[in-house]
Amino acid sequence: MQDCIFCKIINKQIPSNIVYEDEKIISFYDVNPMADIHVLIVPKVHVESINELNESTLESVKYAFSKIPEIAESLGIKDSGYRTIINTGKDAGQTVKHLHIHILGGSKLPEKLV
Ligand code: AMP
Ligand code: ZN
Repeated sequence: MQDCIFCKIINKQIPSNIVYEDEKIISFYDVNPMADIHVLIVPKVHVESINELNESTLESVKYAFSKIPEIAESLGIKDSGYRTIINTGKDAGQTVKHLHIHILGGSKLPEKLV
């Protein structure tokens, strides 16, 4: 996708602070962190949001989920705990239209989401 910022990160057209990468996903630090540790896990296949998933692209999201514990461990937050968020659409404040999982942790997070 030409104008997708996360596709550009995946294609190394713009830099990111990479935490983990393999052939199916990339994980990097969020540029505007909302917690002490805030990384994104991004399936390399371009899917706008949960609403656009199909059987095949769901596999890459499933794979991304399977990698969460390993990535959390590498960040030192697996046992202390972390929050996973996927924003979908306008009311959730989704700003990048390429499905991604937020991982937030590193200190006690606020209980309230809104
Ligand atoms: P969302 O609001 O769920 O769409 O999340 C998009 C996230 O991407 C936000 O938390 C942004 O801070 C983050 N973001 C946007 N551009 C970049 C970038 N170039 N590198 C890292 N994170 C980014
Ligand atoms: Zn994309």
